Amino acid sequence: MQFKERLLLENQAWLATMQERDSKFFARLEQGQSPEALWLGCSDSRVPAETLCNASPGDLFVHRNVANIAATEEHGFMSALEYAVTALKVPYIVVCGHEGCGGVGAACSGQASGMDHVDAHLAQLVELYNSERDNLDANDDKARVNAMVRRNVEAQIDKLADLDLIKNAEQPPTLLGLVYALDAGHLDVVCESAPSQPAAA
Ligand SMILES: [Zn+2]
Repeated sequence: MQFKERLLLENQAWLATMQERDSKFFARLEQGQSPEALWLGCSDSRVPAETLCNASPGDLFVHRNVANIAATEEHGFMSALEYAVTALKVPYIVVCGHEGCGGVGAACSGQASGMDHVDAHLAQLVELYNSERDNLDANDDKARVNAMVRRNVEAQIDKLADLDLIKNAEQPPTLLGLVYALDAGHLDVVCESAPSQPAAA
């Protein structure tokens, strides 16, 4: 069966299951959304946000790009962030990296990929790697990439914490940094900001 046919058939199977479990499910979602978190994750197909934390439609407001970078210079990322914080007032922002990340690996390799958009997107990660490489606790390339995955998550959390959009939010979200273990399926907490306090009036 071709991909398109399989995709549409799987959708039919999924919606039938959802309706059987909860006949009001889709009607309720149609009324609006109130997700618990903005999830910034990697585009990697092995790290599907909702699947790995057993979330349902409506639970997560998701933005994914290569190497889960808080691309504050891009309208695409900033519009998702602004809407999540200002309109949806999400209690959490999650930055989720993953071990064996190809984007982080490319940034650590010291070599351009030859793909213009990829290299431009990863430039800030290359810069971070060059400033951190001597501090990374790693014995081999795999450990080096995984150490850099954690450092990247911390750096993206720090970048978010510094944004006026976050600092001045009516209800500043808690920032949570996670790393997903590709070979074992579990999430580890890398860092977490202090519980959110409403901004002073
Ligand atoms: Zn990745």
